[in-house]
This record gives sequence, C-alpha cells and structure tokens, in this order.
Amino acid sequence: MSEQSYDIVIIGAGPAGMGAAIPLQKNHASVCVIDKAVFPRNKTCAGLVTGKTYRLIKELFGDREIDDLFCFTSGSVRLFDRKKLLVKAPLEHCVRLVDRKDFDNALVEEYKRLGGEILEGEAGLNIDYPGNRIILKNGDAIRFDYLLFADGALSMAHHLLQTDKRDLAFGIEAYIPCDQLDTDSVDLYFGYLDSGYAWVFPHGKTVCVGLADLYDRKTDYRSLIKTFLADLDVDVEGVDLKGAYLPYGTVIPQDRLADNLMLLGDAGGFTDPISGEGLYMALQSGAYAAKALLSSDRQKKAYLDDMSRLIRIVKNGKKVQRTFYSQPIHKMFLKKVEGKEKAVSFFFEQMVEDYRYGYREMRRLYGDYKKSNKES
Ligand SMILES: Cc1cc2nc3c(=O)[nH]c(=O)nc-3n(C[C@H](O)[C@H](O)[C@H](O)COP(=O)(O)OP(=O)(O)OC[C@H]3O[C@@H](n4cnc5c(N)ncnc54)[C@H](O)[C@@H]3O)c2cc1C
Repeated sequence: MSEQSYDIVIIGAGPAGMGAAIPLQKNHASVCVIDKAVFPRNKTCAGLVTGKTYRLIKELFGDREIDDLFCFTSGSVRLFDRKKLLVKAPLEHCVRLVDRKDFDNALVEEYKRLGGEILEGEAGLNIDYPGNRIILKNGDAIRFDYLLFADGALSMAHHLLQTDKRDLAFGIEAYIPCDQLDTDSVDLYFGYLDSGYAWVFPHGKTVCVGLADLYDRKTDYRSLIKTFLADLDVDVEGVDLKGAYLPYGTVIPQDRLADNLMLLGDAGGFTDPISGEGLYMALQSGAYAAKALLSSDRQKKAYLDDMSRLIRIVKNGKKVQRTFYSQPIHKMFLKKVEGKEKAVSFFFEQMVEDYRYGYREMRRLYGDYKKSNKES
C-alpha cells in the first residue's frame, strides 16, 4: 500500500472541481483531482451557458480559442404555457449551449495539458477524517492538507455533515434528432410542473428536451416527460431518458465543517433555485476556492466571504421560487407575460445572462424596466 501527499485534493472533476483545479495548477499548487468516472463521461444536463458563465469559461482557458466548445448559439428565448406560445423575446447577447460530455472533457484535458494530476475511475473511495487521508479502493492512501468536495448534488460531504434535509430537484431529459423536433430558440415550458419547468434547447443536430421539478419520491418523472414529449409530437417509443438530482435552494452550511474542507458547486448547494442553472456557480465557486487557497493566509472564511453574494442569491431565490410557483401567482405571471417581448428580454438579460439584481431586488428590477421602456 502506497501513500502520497498533496497540499490540495479535489474530489470531482466536473466544472466545480476543474474551476478550482485549473487556476491552482496554473499557479503550481500541489493538487490531485480524484473522480469516480473515466473521462469523457456523460452528465445529465441541458448545457445552457449564459453570459456570466461564458466569461468564466473564457477566463479558465486564457488565450485559447473556445468557440469549438459550443454546439449552438441562440439569440432568442420563447415562453410557453403548456403548448401555447406566449412570447418570443430576442436576446441582445446570445446564449450558448454545450454538450456536457465534450465540455467537461475539454476542462479535464486543459487541466492535464497544464500538467495536472488526476485519478480517474476511482469509485468507492473512503475519507479518513480527521486523519486527513483519502483511502482508495486498492488501499492506497492520499494525504491532504485541504480537501475540496466538488462531487455533485449527492456529495460524500453530506454524510460527513449529516445534512439530509435538503431541497433537491430531479431533472430528466432526452436528446431528440432535429428531423423529429427543432428549434433555434431557448424554449421554456410552464404549466407542466408544480415547482419547475420543462425545456427544449437547441444542440445542433439534436435538441435537448427535459424537465426539472422539486424532488418528490411519489412523482413519476418518466411519465411526466413522456406526456411532454407527446405534446411536442415526438414519438416516445425507444427514447433514451436520463435523470439526475440538482440542488434547488438549500445552501449546505459549511461553517459546521473543519476549516480545511470546502464544498464547491452542486456539493455546496450552489444552483439558481429559479432557473436551475448550476454551471455558473460551479465554475465561480471553484475560482473562489482557488483564490482563497492561493492567498497567503488560506482562509476558508475568504472563500465563504467571496461566495456570500451567490449564497444570498440561492437563499432569496428559494423564497421567490415558492411564490413564483404558487398557483395564483404563477397563473397571473403566465397571463401577464403573454406578448411582452421587451419585459422578457429585459429580465433575461439582467437576471439570467448576468446577476445584475439579487432576488430581493425584483421591485427595483421592475422599476428599472418601466423606466427603460419609457425611454426607448
Ligand atoms: C437535468 C439537468 C439539467 C441541467 N441543465 C443545466 C443547464 O442547462 N445549465 C446549467 O448551468 N446547469 C444545468 N444543470 C445543473 C448543472 O448540471 C450542475 O449544476 C453542474 O453540473 C454542477 O457541476 P459540479 O462540478 O458541481 O458537479 P458535477 O457536474 O455533477 O460533477 C461532479 C463530478 O464528481 C464526480 N463524483 C461524484 N461522486 C463522486 C465520488 N464519490 N467519488 C469521486 N468522484 C465523484 C462525478 O463523476 C462528476 O465528474 C442541470 C442539471 C440537471 C440535473
């Protein structure tokens, strides 16, 4: 049995893990990444990349041309009330889409290109804590000073913390060839779910059809998506469905963990509780963790301070989620939004493409929209 030592070990080589590993490796830190999968691996995700996420991806890849990472670019968003088209809104800045298998692999390849060490296919590892060691399945040990959990929505850290009362969503999706169903807009469908939405996103030769809702073990998600697919006139026979959990408004309280343990991305509960967007917070939490560990005092507090705005967005977004999906409000929203191109574009540009407002600033956002509408 061998034992190796690293300053920083990262469990999970998804966007959160790589968001930390790449800048750490660029700065010659002693890092080892461990993932249970062998890359390229699949990841259930619709792959929508907003402007704020795009900027972080650009930062990670530095001078490298990154256009080839994206499988589609869209300049509009459409909202539906079930099958009824409510509005098609143009987007000033396009949104992009990635195929997660290719995108995540490109991140791992970039890390390797920089000389980064990664152990792939390491399922079944154990954490010896507070011994500060990871024990691999073959008995080898990896010693660490800092351990970053970037292992997704069902992170091993949650057992350490014993946090099982989390709000999770469950998402299910399928990729459909364009000759069966096509769109060049980002299409969002409401009215199918109690606390979530369905979507059709263009991916080039295919479209991603999916839905995500607050997880309830009594819900039959396969049957829900089949109803949605049938409404879209897609033959559901033989369609390959893939499902996965995502955090949906519960931030994991990291202050209960030791100072040398940090939770990033989905593992920390960092996704937007209205849109379900998780790539941005995964990459941003990785960048902040790296920044804290590359500073002279290497405080977890610095990481959590940097994350505080996103933590507020998740917590306040959770409250907005409850209101937004409550029956009367949701019905009113769908009625009001019909034909409101400018309002939808404004909201999308300000709150989805970027977080120019927090979820407690919806009144201010509405006021600013009214003002901008008068001026134009
Ligand atoms: C249906 C669906 C659609 C989505 N659509 C979008 C979207 O369009 N846009 C968007 O921004 N977000 C979307 N999300 C959310 C997004 O996919 C996640 O927020 C994002 O992948 C989080 O990145 P991460 O690195 O934290 O975790 P992950 O991407 O889940 O990566 C975790 C990594 O850890 C590894 N791992 C897990 N457990 C272990 C273990 N025990 N040991 C070792 N390795 C382990 C896994 O193999 C994986 O490589 C969607 C999610 C779902 C479920």
